[in-house]
Amino acid sequence: MSSVYLSLVIPVYNEEVNLPELIERCTRTCIEIGKTYEIVLVDDGSHDESASMIRQASEQHAEIVGVLLNRNYGQHSAVMAGLAQARGEVVVTLDADLQNPPEEVPNLVAEIEKGFDVVGSVRQLRQDSMFRKLSSWLVNKAAQMATGVLMHDYGCMLRAYRRPIITAMLQCHERSTFIPILANMFAHKTTEIPVKHAARENDESKYSFLKLINLQFDLLTSMTTFPLRLLSLLGGGLAVLGFFLSGLLLLMRFVYGPEWAAQGVLTVFSILFLFSGVQLLAMGLLGEYIGRIYNDVRARPRYFIREIVSQQTSAENK
Ligand code: UDP
Ligand code: MG
Repeated sequence: MSSVYLSLVIPVYNEEVNLPELIERCTRTCIEIGKTYEIVLVDDGSHDESASMIRQASEQHAEIVGVLLNRNYGQHSAVMAGLAQARGEVVVTLDADLQNPPEEVPNLVAEIEKGFDVVGSVRQLRQDSMFRKLSSWLVNKAAQMATGVLMHDYGCMLRAYRRPIITAMLQCHERSTFIPILANMFAHKTTEIPVKHAARENDESKYSFLKLINLQFDLLTSMTTFPLRLLSLLGGGLAVLGFFLSGLLLLMRFVYGPEWAAQGVLTVFSILFLFSGVQLLAMGLLGEYIGRIYNDVRARPRYFIREIVSQQTSAENK
């Protein structure tokens, strides 16, 4: 089948200052590993010289594949575009900014060779701002709860995947993706290793505040439709509460007379409680439908076969 063993997939967005060093260090690392390799550089609609530098690099090196997107689609879409082109048995994604040193790639590959499907990484001594760290911490906790896979650092894109996981991910047709979460949905055995993390030396992060918020929503919605269900739960609770409250108010009205009920004002309230509860409940019900529509529209593979074991298949493979 494919003759390439290792593919590096790297999204590039306005990284002209980092590209030469990136290509140099990645190439050196790959040669040290000693297997066939390719480096897939995806230009995510950069406004600087990145695209032409990638074009040039691919003309000079047979191992470099350039994928040039027409405009900026965001990091995860760019990585997906790269994954679609990657041919390797083992695929490693990393950032172009050299915050995750390419020299860690052999360690990831070594873990994959131990039999893991996905190898994540945890940034040691992370060189980012407090705000970035706090938001990452929240996200990691939520992701752990939703996927059930214990990984400590979903934000770190230095990751290695086996070919079947890539195939499964490419079958997912949703427009907003968060790759680490998606991969973990299909992985059987995962592990993570500590990696070094450097500060961005030459320039600024390519994520603006708004882009970060968008990313967090991608992450949230890519793992669960629970927020939609929250409406039903809230509505249900309120409706029950409203029902009892209105019952109580009516009862008191008859026991203590109209003066107690402030000339009917409280009765109006009781009706209000009841109706707002019912309304929220109905919205929650809509939410349930929307959640199901969302799942269907995403058309993720319903299941993912890790292996088929029977006497016929094992004979075919021989
Ligand atoms: N990136 C991209 N498209 C974007 C934003 C970023 O392809 O719209 C790339 C960027 O070039 C880098 C990686 O995604 O290779 C991570 O970006 P960055 O280092 O700015 O993010 P941070 O380290 O702040 O999480
Ligand atoms: Mg970075």
